[in-house]
Amino acid sequence: SSGKLKSNSECVKVVVRVRPLSSKEIAEGREVIVHMDVKRHVAILHRPGGTERDAKDFTFDAVFNEQMTQQQIFDDTAADILDSVMDGFNGTIFAYGQTGAGKSHTMTGPVGGASELQGLLPRSFQHIFTNIDITSQDTTYLVRGSYLEIYNEEIRDLLSKNPKERCELKDSPNSGVYVKDLSAFVVKSTDEMHKILDAGLANRAVSATQMNETSSRSHSIFMITVEQSARGVDGADHIRVGKLNMVDLAGSERQSKTGATGERLKEATKINLSLSALGNVISALVDGKSSHIPYRDSKLTRLLQDSLGGNTKTVMVANVGPADYNYDETMSTLRYAYRAKNI
Ligand code: ADP
Repeated sequence: SSGKLKSNSECVKVVVRVRPLSSKEIAEGREVIVHMDVKRHVAILHRPGGTERDAKDFTFDAVFNEQMTQQQIFDDTAADILDSVMDGFNGTIFAYGQTGAGKSHTMTGPVGGASELQGLLPRSFQHIFTNIDITSQDTTYLVRGSYLEIYNEEIRDLLSKNPKERCELKDSPNSGVYVKDLSAFVVKSTDEMHKILDAGLANRAVSATQMNETSSRSHSIFMITVEQSARGVDGADHIRVGKLNMVDLAGSERQSKTGATGERLKEATKINLSLSALGNVISALVDGKSSHIPYRDSKLTRLLQDSLGGNTKTVMVANVGPADYNYDETMSTLRYAYRAKNI
């Protein structure tokens, strides 16, 4: 399609997706202030009641309008990364945006929804196991799934029996940065991967309720590791490991406006810090001139260090709502995404 990402040569892609007006927004007679020029890869935002003339244009690697299907989003953002993960490279997909903009819809899709509504995660499971099935008998695969969240700069294992327990981030000279004792389940089919996803989502909801939080304030990361062992012509086994990180980021809304105080405000400050740390890392990577990539500034960027930059591929899907009352947040999302883009 015309929204297709252009080349493999650049390691970071930034795309923007606008969701349709919700039925509530339609009932309220909300004005649509976001337009996508899909052919030219341009997102156009105008002020409520404004005109195209005072609109602001942002060019990205691709833009997706409200009619784009989940399958099209997958084909144009994830398929490429998955192929390189199957070849032994790391990759990361981020969903960014304010709460309600469509991050979870893009990443997971509605829980128990129709198959055509499935998001990037279930489609990636499918893609991996389909590609394993058709590979030659000389290659064996080991696929593992892990699922964690970062809340308030604390890491929790969503597949642990005790998901409220904090996990430590460790740094080892051999294996780099890793989460100590993180559960990793060997998975043999798309169905088994779905079970893990559902279990993690349920844990996430339970711990959020128990601790009086909302999941929109935490980052969640689903990690899939694909290890393949192939018998070479020399008769020896060659092992390649690729890792895919699927990251549903915390809501990007600025908390000052929500009137948060005390613990809530502290928490909000940490979210804003980790999102800006991520923005700084990505823009340093795409800039290519920085000798220092500030990975250490947040748990999120430390944890993803081996999957951002170098031989890895990254896609950021910035999600926005189409309606007038989201003008400020949509502007801030487009600016954030634009800064992460290679220009
Ligand atoms: P977020 O994760 O950013 O808070 P959600 O993914 O929960 O946002 O989306 C908010 C609401 O909008 C949900 O009801 C979701 O189903 C709906 N929605 C989001 N994106 C789309 C889309 N592209 N098409 C149809 N509905 C969508």
